[in-house]
Amino acid sequence: MVQRTLSIIKPDAVRKNAVGAIIKCFEDAGLRIAAMKMLHLSNEEAGRFYIVHRERPFYKDLAAFMSEGPIVVLVLEGEDAIARLRKTMGATNPKDAAPGTIRAMFAENIERNAVHGSDSEASAGYEIPFFFPAIEMH
Ligand code: UDP
Ligand code: MG
Repeated sequence: MVQRTLSIIKPDAVRKNAVGAIIKCFEDAGLRIAAMKMLHLSNEEAGRFYIVHRERPFYKDLAAFMSEGPIVVLVLEGEDAIARLRKTMGATNPKDAAPGTIRAMFAENIERNAVHGSDSEASAGYEIPFFFPAIEMH
């Protein structure tokens, strides 16, 4: 099934000049870019994006991290795009991420882990329109 999913290249990866390398991983995995932009979230916006985690102990730090610098936000499209992106990203903690995954190559630790990917159709349905109106998707 052709799906769309939301990815973010996080501030740690943008700062280390890894945007191009990470986009190449997406394309090599068979994901097509349907929308893309760079922006710098406020702390409030980052907290709203990750609202599902509001009760978690890492929530405040996560909102601070995600608003510390610019990010690149993408809608990726392809066959089983949600699971395909998650596989290409690797585990949340880079210590557990399979070799060759984006997080194995670019993440610093469990928080500063280079990329985001929607984890379900429900989360993609919240996350894609959070950043992109239909007129910006191609
Ligand atoms: N995170 C963290 N500490 C943790 C778990 C997660 O700082 O113990 C951060 C990390 O940046 C992660 C994000 O919170 O990517 C969202 O967590 P989630 O469990 O949804 O992981 P993901 O779906 O990104 O793999
Ligand atoms: Mg998640």
